[in-house]
Amino acid sequence: MALRIAVLKERAPGEDRVALTPETAKKFAALGATVAVEEGAGLGAAITDEAYREAGAEVVSGPKAVEGADIVLGVQAPDVAALSGAKQGAWVAATFDPFRNGDTVEAYAKAGLEALSMEFMPRITRAQSMDVLSSQSNLAGYKAVLTAANQYGRAFPMMMTAAGTVQAAKVFVMGVGVAGLQAIATARRLGAQVSATDVRSATKEQIQSLGAKPIFVEHVEGIEGEGSGGYASEMSEEYRNAQAELVSGHIAKQDIVITTALIPGKPAPRLISDAQIASMKPGSVIFDLAVAQGGNVEGSKPDEVVEKHGVTIVGYSNTAGHLATDASALFARNLYNFLSAFWDKEAGKPVLDEEIGDAVRLTQGGKVVNERLAG
Ligand code: NAD
Repeated sequence: MALRIAVLKERAPGEDRVALTPETAKKFAALGATVAVEEGAGLGAAITDEAYREAGAEVVSGPKAVEGADIVLGVQAPDVAALSGAKQGAWVAATFDPFRNGDTVEAYAKAGLEALSMEFMPRITRAQSMDVLSSQSNLAGYKAVLTAANQYGRAFPMMMTAAGTVQAAKVFVMGVGVAGLQAIATARRLGAQVSATDVRSATKEQIQSLGAKPIFVEHVEGIEGEGSGGYASEMSEEYRNAQAELVSGHIAKQDIVITTALIPGKPAPRLISDAQIASMKPGSVIFDLAVAQGGNVEGSKPDEVVEKHGVTIVGYSNTAGHLATDASALFARNLYNFLSAFWDKEAGKPVLDEEIGDAVRLTQGGKVVNERLAG
């Protein structure tokens, strides 16, 4: 029997992405798998049922798609109730947000499913093409700048017109990971004057190479080099105070601020206080990319436009979802790259190794097995 891969329509509110595209459906079929998709699963990403059928997938009801599935793919992990027809021990490869969704992880364990959390993909070279955080953050960084530009009542580039000169906008990017780098590049392309900051000093050169100005705390130690997997950790109180002071001086002169700072497994660090917002010029715009993780900006609210002291604060709960077609294409390729890299031709299915398998596997044999979730 061919391995059966099933894909459901996403159920989370506002989730327009889909974990499979006709392109990856074809590729899975070429590996010998049967692919089944729930009717309408791709519509939010502008993919019709017909396009999936042409790619060789079955397009059926949700329960039918899952019936006898060996592997279920998702953007956000489906409810366990929707997976009751899957095979015993079936894999579910999706994002689980495991630190915040302990109950879901427990439910997967109880149901005997093997949850594979794509956010836990290790940051190693060979896993780069499988990394959904990178592929989605990159698009989110781009969309954040466009959204901020759209809210801003002025232009980004300097324009010399017969009626006089329009000044270039000043954009400040806080947090220079994957999203921040794309935000810098996008703001530069739109003609803004860009500056940026991070706690990891390794980002200084990256900021400069994109033509932006680095703004760094110099007299207190930040994080040298890349640390564990390139992620930031929580900073000392001394550092946070020095950062707040530096930011206060800089932020008052900015038109647009994009915040992207995240710390895995922790609420997002608070980077901008109400008092700092009050110091900004009226008409300025802040986009808080971390709003769904608790927010970098005091008072930001997911999917709401907040006005404070004449400053507009915006942030989406699912920024990449606002570019659902491209986000789906990249997400689906990440999943295909992951499963195909481990494809065992004789077994006709993927067999994971320890380095990546143990990193992403949350549940197995009825138990929660991931080290990062222990204790
Ligand atoms: P992230 O989304 O976890 O965080 C975003 C940024 O916020 C990071 O640069 C972080 O240092 C910064 N930050 C955290 N606290 C801050 C604070 N208090 N003030 C200012 N900035 C703060 O990070 P990310 O985008 O996932 O990427 C982090 C690094 O990992 C990057 O260097 C990236 O290139 C690397 N990476 C490597 C791989 C791989 O090798 N497979 C994959 C993805 C990312």
